[in-house]
Amino acid sequence: MIRPLLSSLIILSLFLLADQANGQTTAILCKQIIDGKADRPIDANVVLIENNRIVSVGNKSIIPPGTPTIDLGDHTLMPGFIDMHCHPLGNGDDDYQTYHLKNSSADKALQCLKNVQGLLQEGWTSLRVAGDLDVGYAHLDVRDAINAGMFVGPRIFGAGHWISVTGGGGDLNFFSYEQSGVKVDGLVVDGPEEMRKAIRNEIKYGSDWIKILVSGAFMTAGDNPQNVHFSKEELEVAIDEAGRRDVPVMAHAHSAESIKMSVSAGAKTIEHGSFLDDEAIAMMKAKGVFLVPTMAIGKWFLEFNEGSQALSKAIELTKKHRVGIETMLTKAIRSGVKVVVGTDLTGTQPEYHSNEFSELVRVGMSPMQAIKAGTSLAAEGLGKEKELGTVAPGMLADLVAVKGDPLADINRLKKVTFVMKDGKVVKSPVK
Ligand SMILES: [Zn+2]
Repeated sequence: MIRPLLSSLIILSLFLLADQANGQTTAILCKQIIDGKADRPIDANVVLIENNRIVSVGNKSIIPPGTPTIDLGDHTLMPGFIDMHCHPLGNGDDDYQTYHLKNSSADKALQCLKNVQGLLQEGWTSLRVAGDLDVGYAHLDVRDAINAGMFVGPRIFGAGHWISVTGGGGDLNFFSYEQSGVKVDGLVVDGPEEMRKAIRNEIKYGSDWIKILVSGAFMTAGDNPQNVHFSKEELEVAIDEAGRRDVPVMAHAHSAESIKMSVSAGAKTIEHGSFLDDEAIAMMKAKGVFLVPTMAIGKWFLEFNEGSQALSKAIELTKKHRVGIETMLTKAIRSGVKVVVGTDLTGTQPEYHSNEFSELVRVGMSPMQAIKAGTSLAAEGLGKEKELGTVAPGMLADLVAVKGDPLADINRLKKVTFVMKDGKVVKSPVK
């Protein structure tokens, strides 16, 4: 009984191998293509895909006879979206600081899988996780399971945890002294040697980014986002330790001083950057540091969480500083700082993430600039610009499409109707 089964398995594998070697070609036909790089739609309406890569971009004449073709009609085709700052382990509970105490790592992994699959359906083919709500590494396990082909999901990059000082945004500051032994979801470090150890552990368990909380936070109890938490020495150790392992550092930095210290020390991206000043903008521009302003989360606080006790601090701070934050962000955009799309959403409705595009347009980007901020520029921030974020030959086939023209109305990005990840269709209006 074993032999026939084995031989049929071998034949099946040979078929699969032959299929891959021959290359499976698919054509996508659409109204227009925004390639993620050019300032206007490119002069093409066909993309040819072989296995998981784009091999050719042009017009109908490039389609070899007999090639299966997905005709998207009046759709605009773009690179898959990249969310440079999210936390997909959450379940949308506004009391997220205690969420990790109530739920096991396994439970969070399942929640994460549901969330990231929802995001993929909305066009988010890549996510960078800015640390998440687990003592363990649940989202990195989900990443590995997706990469191994066990589940369909977006590409996941990022940090296991956020690293903060005692009493910082990665600590739980609302317990009494007697409960000081309770396990927190972030990593709490004090001094250069604890920083080194934490970073070595993060890399050991699979982080491909390091996330440090250089200032206090909006969403946590008992700390102030206008303070600086890490010393210069701790910061430099963090960048040195991660840098020697070729792992980039994202610095959560609200206060102007924390932004400048992070840029000087060598952080690759600044998260939030709420209290930017002119000097910080000039430094970021000069060093090519990316800014991830995470506007969607502020909008979400104000739209859905009014009256939430858990988020009262975040709501109050957002209301108080919103105008100032937006004014400086507009300045940063005009100065040519590399501003990219990142939502900071924690397991909320997947369809809410695309609000980041419309928020960036509201504060001064053109629709094309906003699309680049969530595709080619974000890919550059990830260090993956040779494979992701552009519709061009040789790139991985991560593509999305919307009906009509998103350059005429950025809100069209909220209605993604076609998604391809790694050459496989995961959503299509064409049956
Ligand atoms: Zn965040």
